[in-house]
Amino acid sequence: MLNQSEFALQERTSELRANLAAVRDRIDRACRRAGREAGDVHLIAVTKTFPASDVRILAGLGITDIGENRDQEAAPKSAECRRLGLSLRWHFVGQLQVNKCASVVRYCDVVHSVDRSRVAEALASRARSAGRTITCLIQVRLDGAPGRGGADPSDVPGLAELIAERDGLTLGGVMAVAPLGEPPRPAFRALRDVANRLRSDHPGAWMISAGMSGDLDDAIAEGATHVRVGTALLGGRPSFVR
Ligand SMILES: *Cc1c(COP(=O)(O)O)cnc(C)c1O
Repeated sequence: MLNQSEFALQERTSELRANLAAVRDRIDRACRRAGREAGDVHLIAVTKTFPASDVRILAGLGITDIGENRDQEAAPKSAECRRLGLSLRWHFVGQLQVNKCASVVRYCDVVHSVDRSRVAEALASRARSAGRTITCLIQVRLDGAPGRGGADPSDVPGLAELIAERDGLTLGGVMAVAPLGEPPRPAFRALRDVANRLRSDHPGAWMISAGMSGDLDDAIAEGATHVRVGTALLGGRPSFVR
């Protein structure tokens, strides 16, 4: 007989296994439609609001990349996962404040939300102090609405130059969140254009982080190399967490 917590663990494991299979299937089909190899698209499990026990289950199912959007939550969760012996790549996908950079560089490998030089400079100096190298993606604003973060496309070349020059940082590519209330595909196409221009100056900046639970298929059609998936893998979050 299983006790209650073993039973709960088993239930959650089957749920996450089924969700993961469905997400992988969507990725495979989107790749096939786009004439891409399924292995071209990396899956990042966005575990915000969900506990380290879920991260452990996902790791057991083969997930290697975890995304989080708040340092207050991600710092202790990543530490707990380390104590559990899990070896994972951590991606910071939320808006980043300068005063959080010192913490984030300790556990994150990739920051997807670099959108201004002040954040890039802070990440660089904190990464150097911590003896780490952080891969930076430039978050691009695709709707002209400044509220949700992201650099204007015209500011990308300058920011890219700054990141590429700094010790402690590696320029990885671009990231975007599709604008609310618009079809996502044209926005992802615009991101792809920004990415292509960036790559002509910085050939190593190959990553395009785009696509979430609702729109990963369109993102893959427009060249996404990394999809960031929360809800479709883990289930719904409380509605006040975006
Ligand atoms: C929460 C979040 C995701 C995942 O969103 P879902 O719709 O739950 O898949 C992806 N990217 C960012 C930046 C997020 O904050």
